[in-house]
Amino acid sequence: MDTDRIDPAANLRARRAELKSALEEAGRPSRDVVITAVSKTHDADRILPVLEAGHRVFGENRVQEAMAKWPPLLREGFPDVELRLIGPLQSNKAKEAAAFFDVIETVDRPKIAKALAAAIASQEKRPRLLIQVNTGEEPQKAGVAPQDAAGFIAQCREEFGLVIAGLMCIPPAGDDPAPHFALLAKLAAENGLEELSMGMSADYLIAAQLGATHVRIGTGVFGQREHA
Ligand SMILES: *Cc1c(COP(=O)(O)O)cnc(C)c1O
Repeated sequence: MDTDRIDPAANLRARRAELKSALEEAGRPSRDVVITAVSKTHDADRILPVLEAGHRVFGENRVQEAMAKWPPLLREGFPDVELRLIGPLQSNKAKEAAAFFDVIETVDRPKIAKALAAAIASQEKRPRLLIQVNTGEEPQKAGVAPQDAAGFIAQCREEFGLVIAGLMCIPPAGDDPAPHFALLAKLAAENGLEELSMGMSADYLIAAQLGATHVRIGTGVFGQREHA
């Protein structure tokens, strides 16, 4: 692919138009679904046009990469960006992540919840927290098992005093994603949670029809990544 020809702002407009029709079809208002533009691995040159087009919600999967890349962009005149951590979090990075990100989508075990609670108690900033659910119960994948989600949500609230805003999932590659999205929506409803981060470039329209409040689109906005 000729990477110079990628127009991320135009791609984003196209994704938004597709989202709008899919939501109309499902009878959901399109303002109810936010696109998280997943900018991981992409540099400032690729991100800036999307900021200039008015988009403000971005996802990154590595704490270090985001902390190196974003502060100069925010200083370009975009202080109101919402940065969402969508990659696995190590407990030794919890303090930095809690200070830097507006939303952390990948809370998935007591050690992380405890580290985030300690970090949040020592700062003004209150990042919104989502719990990652391993809906496909894949051994190599992060996330709490579906049957343990209610218990973990209760533990986050009661033992660690955390406010949990919602749930996130990444269905197994190759599976029909719809049952995974439906399961996540059901778990959110059962636990009184509003925010649902689900759907990526290949399946965000399905996720939106099944109740996503946030869809995470990388390739569909910024083009292919050269590395993970
Ligand atoms: C990279 C990534 C995405 C975006 O994936 P695309 O298929 O490029 O849209 C979404 N969610 C998570 C957790 C990711 O790591």
